[in-house]
Amino acid sequence: MADSTPLSEALTYLASRREEHVEEVRDFLTIPSISALSAHKSDVARAAQWLKDRLVKAGFVDARVDATPGNPIVRASSGHRAGLPTILVYGHYDVQPVDPLESWAHPPFSPTVENNILYARGSSDDKGQVFMQLIAAEAWQKTGQLPVNLKFIFEGEEEIGSVHLEQYVLDHQEDLKADLAVISDTPMYQDGYPAVCYGLRGLTSLEIAVQGPYQDLHSGVYGGAVQNPAHALARLIASLHHADGRVAVEGFYDEVDPLAPEERKAFAALPFDEEAYRSELRVPALHGEPGYTVLERIWARPTLEVNGLWSGFLGEGQKTIVPASAHAKITCRLVPHQNPNHVLDAIESHLRSHLPPGVTLAVTRGEGAPGSITPIDHPAVKAAEEAIERIYHSPASYIRMGGSIPVVVGFQEILHMPTLLLGFALPNENFHAPNEHFHLENFYRGAETVAVLWEKLGAGHV
Ligand SMILES: [Zn+2]
Repeated sequence: MADSTPLSEALTYLASRREEHVEEVRDFLTIPSISALSAHKSDVARAAQWLKDRLVKAGFVDARVDATPGNPIVRASSGHRAGLPTILVYGHYDVQPVDPLESWAHPPFSPTVENNILYARGSSDDKGQVFMQLIAAEAWQKTGQLPVNLKFIFEGEEEIGSVHLEQYVLDHQEDLKADLAVISDTPMYQDGYPAVCYGLRGLTSLEIAVQGPYQDLHSGVYGGAVQNPAHALARLIASLHHADGRVAVEGFYDEVDPLAPEERKAFAALPFDEEAYRSELRVPALHGEPGYTVLERIWARPTLEVNGLWSGFLGEGQKTIVPASAHAKITCRLVPHQNPNHVLDAIESHLRSHLPPGVTLAVTRGEGAPGSITPIDHPAVKAAEEAIERIYHSPASYIRMGGSIPVVVGFQEILHMPTLLLGFALPNENFHAPNEHFHLENFYRGAETVAVLWEKLGAGHV
């Protein structure tokens, strides 16, 4: 082939080995690496070893399994060539439990291909996508040289909260340092809409207790003489929002990055049926901060939510009391660049200044994690967009996600690098549910897209 290039050779490598790769990923998926169940501890270890061996086979001779107090972490790297950007690829090889087993059409650890769809626990979350990353790198290793320096970190505790990952990252900062992290552990926007996800929301939490009399009081004897803590809590909570949905806490929005016009345009370009969304949720109307679309509200605007509240007598029948106390749990989804502590300060001072008379207030502050964002004009975002367009022959979507992924916060706070979420699963592929599956078309194209991405990044995009 006269016009063969290093990239076309890498892509040919992938295209000519599709069947082989499906067989291999099926083998990986037969290992029931369920991190939540201690009975599967040795299976989790076996999956780590499988991955390590496969990385060695792919040419990553330094691949290793690092012990942690929990499940091991698999590492590998392509070595360091000066002048090339360094990319850290993260994924997880543990999976969710499988019950209820009877709801599976095929046994969860007997990977089955039907209509070009691969059914197995872990097929899309995340072993299939981990293997997809591996073969994309292998394609370069076997046909020439990777155009970037690659480092891999695959953990076995993602499904149980990444218990030992943060400490591991703290202990290996020098080793893990990179210009960019890339994670394939999320869905695309929807079928036919491959997406670059460049922002996540953060989280902060608090619990409040409104204290009245020293114990529940007889409402016939004392009712009318003291403030009822349940009433006081209801007033306090009502004061947190304006009727139109905006958060009423002074300073709550102070550090919020406004949405860039090009982001609003990108979100507006996505198909989104508000009426279908409403009816799926079975609410009479959607409600949220005025001036923003639903996608803007859930991806790029902060929220303050009461997650639970309780007070007084909750049993059967009546109990005529003035309750001694009333309680609420509150969390906020935060957006870049809100500082979780500043937000808690603002809420606490709002609560104290709005506290009705006759009761006291105790506030217990919880853990916080900031939101994260890779600016939409970051060269890596552009590179991912071009890679998607080259392989999918359709425009890449720009999306953010409303949830939080702790490892992304760790990469941002500890390693000071941005993260691209480049997932190739579909939102309805049953992550964590029976009949988890992965469309093989996206397995193939995902690997090809990643292979192209490495070239784009190597060509100076980062
Ligand atoms: Zn996952």
